[in-house]
Amino acid sequence: MEIWRSSTCLLLLGRLWGTHVNHAVKKPVYNICDKILFDRGFEILGGNMRLSEMFVRENDSAVQCTLCNHRCHIQEGKRGICGVRENRNGELYSLVYGKLVAQNVDPVEKKPLFHFLPGSTTYSISTVGCNFQCLHCQNYHISQFPHMHNGEISGVHATPGEVVGKAQVHGCKSISYTYVEPTIFYEFSRDCGELAHQHGLKNIYVSNGYMTVEALEKMVPWMDAINVDIKAFDDQVYRKVCKARLQPVLDNVRLLHQYGVWLEVTTLVIPGINDSQQQLEGIANFIADIDCAIPWHVTAFYPTYKMTDRQRTPLSSLEKAFAIGKSAGLQYVYQGNIPGEKEDTECPSCGAKVLSRSGFVLNFSGLENGSCVKCGFRIPGIF
Ligand code: SF4
Repeated sequence: MEIWRSSTCLLLLGRLWGTHVNHAVKKPVYNICDKILFDRGFEILGGNMRLSEMFVRENDSAVQCTLCNHRCHIQEGKRGICGVRENRNGELYSLVYGKLVAQNVDPVEKKPLFHFLPGSTTYSISTVGCNFQCLHCQNYHISQFPHMHNGEISGVHATPGEVVGKAQVHGCKSISYTYVEPTIFYEFSRDCGELAHQHGLKNIYVSNGYMTVEALEKMVPWMDAINVDIKAFDDQVYRKVCKARLQPVLDNVRLLHQYGVWLEVTTLVIPGINDSQQQLEGIANFIADIDCAIPWHVTAFYPTYKMTDRQRTPLSSLEKAFAIGKSAGLQYVYQGNIPGEKEDTECPSCGAKVLSRSGFVLNFSGLENGSCVKCGFRIPGIF
């Protein structure tokens, strides 16, 4: 285990798809005192190592993580698939508590959430690591950082109080746990989330929806909104492209809606992967079966990371997805990653444009207390 010491981490602000990410540019300084402390299981790195709240002990010092549906069996000294949870002396530790690699003020529309405090900004944070290994990951520099750097954990230390304070200073109305799967830094997101509520801020998860039911139920009390990716409607695609499974995601989408967390769904439409009529209809019908008022964002893929063998998504594919969503009865279907295309919200009752957007910018609101000013129809969401 090599250790980053906060005083010696030089960080370079990089830009990833509009996202500032701290890239470590110096080799870590290894300190023998740190090693001794670490070997004894002490919390060091400014408190970035925390005992996980979601694991069970197994035989011979092994543990099983119960945070996400991989339910990794982890031997002594090893880590789970996410690369940031480690078995030390028969106990599971998060290595990324408050170890932030990205902190940004984003428009909430960027998450994307179109029916949640539209026009507001959200303080967006992330650690390294992810429980998915998507071949097309747009943030692979941070999501796969531990795997790409021999297990290193990069980032700068922050406390929940500092995160909430910065959100307030910047005038944000919410905190977003985003850029990688936030479930993998659950404990820190929970502590931030509870403190945020005490200060009148809301909480957003931008998620692959792969947390366990028991983890999800712990999140619901402080989670106000979530955008879940449904990446395909085919388990084989999930296995091949993301090294995960479809069904737990679908189950969680239903459950989140039942629990009353504000929910929007995103599908990145990838040529040759999930752009068939059958796949798109499968997703659209699944959402409609839960609630036709759940917004569905169909967004354009661009070649990146390990998926550079195909072209960007043509507009025609997004138009097909849009039409399929509407045919399934979905009231709010949006196209993303192509500014200027079908990004506005129309009142399903009178057809008036109630929210007009260009990219992530809200241009116009024809809502009053969440209702259409022309006909009074209540638009679903949190306004
Ligand atoms: S969070 Fe998921 S991927 Fe990470 S150790 Fe736990 S079960 Fe494995």
